[in-house]
Amino acid sequence: MDFCPRAPTFAAIMSKRIAVIGAGISGVSTALLLAEKGHQLHIISKSFSPNITSNRAAAFWFPYHVRNDKRGIGWCRTAFEYFMAHTGEETGISMKKIIKAVKNNTGDDDSWVEFMPPNQVKLLVDGAAPKGYDKAYEAHVPLIETQIFLPWIYKQLEAKNAAFIQQEVTDLYALSKDYDVVINCSALGARTLCNDTAVIPVRGQVVLLEPGYPEFIFLDNQTPAYVVPRKDATIVGGTYEENVYDERTEEESLKDILTRAYSVLEGLEGRKIIGNWAGLRPYRPTVRLELEEGTNIIHNYGHGGSGYTLSFGCAEDVVKLVEESQ
Ligand SMILES: Cc1cc2nc3c(=O)[nH]c(=O)nc-3n(C[C@H](O)[C@H](O)[C@H](O)COP(=O)(O)OP(=O)(O)OC[C@H]3O[C@@H](n4cnc5c(N)ncnc54)[C@H](O)[C@@H]3O)c2cc1C
Repeated sequence: MDFCPRAPTFAAIMSKRIAVIGAGISGVSTALLLAEKGHQLHIISKSFSPNITSNRAAAFWFPYHVRNDKRGIGWCRTAFEYFMAHTGEETGISMKKIIKAVKNNTGDDDSWVEFMPPNQVKLLVDGAAPKGYDKAYEAHVPLIETQIFLPWIYKQLEAKNAAFIQQEVTDLYALSKDYDVVINCSALGARTLCNDTAVIPVRGQVVLLEPGYPEFIFLDNQTPAYVVPRKDATIVGGTYEENVYDERTEEESLKDILTRAYSVLEGLEGRKIIGNWAGLRPYRPTVRLELEEGTNIIHNYGHGGSGYTLSFGCAEDVVKLVEESQ
């Protein structure tokens, strides 16, 4: 028998101790890609699924708040491909038809098409746009059912020996002394953690109807109005309320949301209302994704209404920054 200690493998030598702050989609997508590279992950978070914004997303792939940022094209396409490659009952991801409806002179533009993988979008012609709209597009995009996907990704992380630690971080720099790298995915939390007042909440309210209709996603992102067919409910949205911190829904808003949806998809009317929720999108004029100079802290926050749409794309760039860091 050979009792000589084995030389450490290349992977063990390169493995870093990494803390990810935040257990929402930005944090867990980043943590998973890093865990898959063999790093040791601690996911430190004030709250976990299902008590976070990432559970309140609709959550279908669509570039909502990022179209002024060309970095978003690569991020969105990478995430699109990741989700498409991971469809299944177990993950809660499926490819769904989306009808994106547009009214003329509302400021809506076609720039989102550039964020899609090429040749995926069809313009509907000959009066095929939904009632009240001037034109519409059809495509197939990933729908991520958060109630299935978040537990699934937490399990993947556990299987890679990532540790989940419940803690509110108040000092990034103190924490960074205990790790090779700290990745800040604290979303709205960055307002206090980094004194970054550029991040603001944008409240979104939705109504939940009994599931079963329609089979496609409807989106008018200018109003905004959307209908999303999950297995457990049809999500009907929504609102866009800047600087509102209250996570409760309001009766008047819920009525308006339904009135708008009924006028477009008549088959929705009469379906049982089974719930509602509100969530705070962590909006920032641009996503902060960078290594903070002179530190071992990488920021990845401010994804607004596109956290899922950007997730694995941003995560891939964080992995590159980790690999480049000493
Ligand atoms: C109604 C609605 C519909 C939406 N629909 C879509 C959609 O269809 N598609 C899409 O892509 N996006 C959608 N979004 C946006 C999406 O939900 C967000 O962009 C996404 O959830 C942000 O993820 P995150 O991980 O950055 O933030 P969060 O999910 O908010 O996670 C932040 C994490 O950081 C932790 N944290 C914060 N501060 C601290 C601290 N100091 N110490 C420790 N932990 C801390 C929190 O506890 C939490 O775990 C929607 C949002 C809403 C509200």
